[in-house]
Amino acid sequence: TATVALEDVEVDYRGRGRALGPVSLSIGEGEIVALVGPSGCGKSTALRLLAGLEPATRGQVRRAPGRGETSVVFQAPTLAPWMSAAANVALPLELSGTPKAEARARALEALERVGLAGAGASRPAQLSGGMAMRASLARALVTQPRLLMLDEPFAALDEITRRTLADDVLALWSQTRPAIVFVTHNVEEAAYMAERIVVLTRGPGRIAGEVRVEAPLP
Ligand code: ADP
Ligand code: ADP
Repeated sequence: TATVALEDVEVDYRGRGRALGPVSLSIGEGEIVALVGPSGCGKSTALRLLAGLEPATRGQVRRAPGRGETSVVFQAPTLAPWMSAAANVALPLELSGTPKAEARARALEALERVGLAGAGASRPAQLSGGMAMRASLARALVTQPRLLMLDEPFAALDEITRRTLADDVLALWSQTRPAIVFVTHNVEEAAYMAERIVVLTRGPGRIAGEVRVEAPLP
């Protein structure tokens, strides 16, 4: 069953014509899907549609009801600079009404799961790029979303950190198995992490094809 699906979706940006589509794409429960394609073809737009951050101009975005939350992680960490890492991770829980003490405890657990056990008190500026991305992943996963969107999450990081983080994401995925859709320019990363690689054409992107990767995931 699909967690979220785009059905004949098109997006127009005012004054710029079509940005994406028509595209139909269904994301199954617990599936890991990579979205690749040339720059400007509409990958980020597709991700924002799937996340419900932006409306379709035409077509339908269907979401399975009662399937919990969607979390999004962007390439540039969006941690609040004046708050500690732990407070940043606790924030989505606090905003949805979780008592402060419980939110803090779950935030520390989430930081531990991404290998940042000792870094809860650090401000974002004190974290390396890789650590800030881990903190962003902890914040995205602390609410136990059923759908996780990653928009070029590792693009700004060095090769070794990228590889470590790809393994970290797969390890995190194996714990609660959210559906993951991620945008990447890195074909190696797509083939390593994804079960499906969806290729978009030059913009406005349509689906050019799809590759199924028969790889053992953790
Ligand atoms: P990709 O992620 O594949 O690089 P995007 O989804 O960012 O592509 O963009 C698709 C197209 O839509 C591009 O031509 C881009 O310039 C345009 N676009 C993206 N966001 C906006 C926006 N907010 N307003 C106007 N045009 C946009
Ligand atoms: P990068 O600088 O390439 O992004 P990392 O994020 O993996 O690399 O780590 C950079 C530095 O931060 C390393 O020196 C590492 O020892 C340190 N570091 C990594 N994780 C932690 C942690 N949980 N607590 C404290 N320091 C850490």
